[in-house]
Amino acid sequence: MRVNGTLINYYFHCKRQCYLHGNRLNLEDNSEQVKIGKAIHQERAEDSKNTEIAIENIRLDKLTKEYLTEIKKSDADVEAAKWQLLYYLSVLKSKGIVRKGRLEFVEKNKKDKKIFILELTKELEEKLDFYITQIEQLLEEEEPPECIHKATCKKCAYYEYCYV
Ligand code: SF4
Repeated sequence: MRVNGTLINYYFHCKRQCYLHGNRLNLEDNSEQVKIGKAIHQERAEDSKNTEIAIENIRLDKLTKEYLTEIKKSDADVEAAKWQLLYYLSVLKSKGIVRKGRLEFVEKNKKDKKIFILELTKELEEKLDFYITQIEQLLEEEEPPECIHKATCKKCAYYEYCYV
């Protein structure tokens, strides 16, 4: 599987999750968290009157003259979400579309949202290339990395696979 935004997100959240997803062990359709995420996505897309666009199978929440906006349902892993958005910015840039990133965390039943603005600098681009190479190497490994044993595992689609 080619590296994509989801794999980048998983790499920062859990390398095992990245490995399992990248090697097409896809259990995610059954996950409650994934369903909630999709529902929020749908709702927001309707609100914003079809501003959602797709490039190379990447679904982007909203593209304006200044920003590419990505909407997340939880701020549990800000770092993972930031790198995922930086990856999308780099794909856009490769097509001649230069934008800043706007990351919005909209928690269920909470009115407040957290917003981060990101810019794809040369330094971040180099780091991103480095991580993409790391992910490619990880996916080639014979065995998945060890379980991370964190509280967030309970919300992961691979929880049963890893622990039960
Ligand atoms: S359950 Fe935990 S260890 Fe297993 S893939 Fe998910 S996050 Fe990683």
